[in-house]
Amino acid sequence: MRTIAIYLIFGMLTMSAWGFGTVVIDAGHGGNDRGGSWGKVYEKHLALDTAFRLERYLKMKGYRVIMTRKTDKYLSLSTRSAIANKYKNAIFVSIHINKASRTGAAGIETFYYGSEGRKLGAAIQDKMVSKVKVENRGLKYARFSVLRKTKIPAILTEIGFVSNYGDRQRLKSGHYRDAIAKAIADGIAKYD
Ligand SMILES: [Zn+2]
Repeated sequence: MRTIAIYLIFGMLTMSAWGFGTVVIDAGHGGNDRGGSWGKVYEKHLALDTAFRLERYLKMKGYRVIMTRKTDKYLSLSTRSAIANKYKNAIFVSIHINKASRTGAAGIETFYYGSEGRKLGAAIQDKMVSKVKVENRGLKYARFSVLRKTKIPAILTEIGFVSNYGDRQRLKSGHYRDAIAKAIADGIAKYD
């Protein structure tokens, strides 16, 4: 009886990560392309740091993680999609930081293109806004190249505005980036 229970539990654990064992994490921008910036606060750095934190949380959950970049280097959008398309049982999560000319614009928003991306994005957006106290800008459809060219379920999340004072203070905090990374990982597990 005990043996059966162990097999059942083991079966459930392996099943949970069966649909896609791999998560491709894409830290936006890099190298000469610093993304949105405000003073010395650069999107490319915040995105990469958050990507590494997400990698850690996903590995704790048993996922294999592929990073499109691990260093401060430039990658074209088509290269990012090409990396993602090398994997079949996988999903693609691109991390970005927003910037707007209206400094009042704030909060988190997540973009999708395909129907699976919509489900994945909904799970991630829900977890982020329920676990982190930020403005919910919602889940949105977008024809971004990196989403259109990626065949596996794909989303692009904008985890705050570098141009907004409150968001910027949060984004500069490792505690905030860690909480966001954990929420994204939880959203991925919820979608799985
Ligand atoms: Zn960006």
